[in-house]
Amino acid sequence: MRVRTLAAVLLTGALALTACGKEGGPGETPAPAGVFDVAKDVKVEGSPTFEKIKTRGSLIVGVKEDQPGLGYKDPTTNKYSGFDIDIARLVSAKLGFDPEKIQFKTIQSAAREQALINGDVDYYVGTYTINAGRKEKVAFAGPYFVAGQDLLVKKDDSSITGPETLKGKKVCSVTGSTPIKTIREKGYTEPENIQEFQGYSQCVTKLLNGEVDAVTTDDAILKGYASAEEGKLKVVGKTFSKEPYGIGLPKGDDALRGKVNDILQAALDGGDWQKIYDGTLGKSGSSAQKPTIDRY
Ligand code: GLU
Repeated sequence: MRVRTLAAVLLTGALALTACGKEGGPGETPAPAGVFDVAKDVKVEGSPTFEKIKTRGSLIVGVKEDQPGLGYKDPTTNKYSGFDIDIARLVSAKLGFDPEKIQFKTIQSAAREQALINGDVDYYVGTYTINAGRKEKVAFAGPYFVAGQDLLVKKDDSSITGPETLKGKKVCSVTGSTPIKTIREKGYTEPENIQEFQGYSQCVTKLLNGEVDAVTTDDAILKGYASAEEGKLKVVGKTFSKEPYGIGLPKGDDALRGKVNDILQAALDGGDWQKIYDGTLGKSGSSAQKPTIDRY
């Protein structure tokens, strides 16, 4: 009896160790997020980035690490999770790489274009809005999701109900992001009331401390913080922009852009996109609307 118990304990321990060794190995129940069938014999004719990846034998993917539900790195396990992370894993699997072959690299909003230009990352998946200015420096596959700019405030704040109510309020956002640009250009609050940081989690800390009145960025990001902070914060819920999320790629690599668009289209048509959404963003209440791929 005792021996059997010990054996069971050892076996459980061994299984737990196996499961910890790689992200979402087989045999775990329910099926872990981020596990996709790995494609075989993939070719992307004429793609310099794919050539580089093949030679290296692994992928370097730029992501965020402080956005719960989208791109989040657990400080205790160092594991990444979220919608963007699973989209990145899906793309890598369909390019023929196992999940263990991905190295995630945290890149903040302001450093994305340069990271792609320098070749520090092969592709980037991190709430990256497709727009004309950025397209001059990088390329985009997608969109794989469409968010909208919104406001995060304290739960008991009834004075902020939309961007037109921000005059005289302290607003926080991130350097190099589209939301900070919009707040400035539209003059929703006075320039001296705008605070900017490298990451949204710094803004959320300021909001919780009462040092700012609102955090502004995409609703999908803000909903993740609101649900992580359990009842302390709320999203106003009136979006005032469209933020189509693209996968950032080195400019000029049209072959890879076409391939990644094919991968996203197949995920939208099959069940993978929905599975990713249900396991991540769906839990914090973001829209489940499927986007339309833009093959520009
Ligand atoms: N989607 C917006 C952007 O690309 C805001 C989120 C972010 O900073 O990543 O700028």
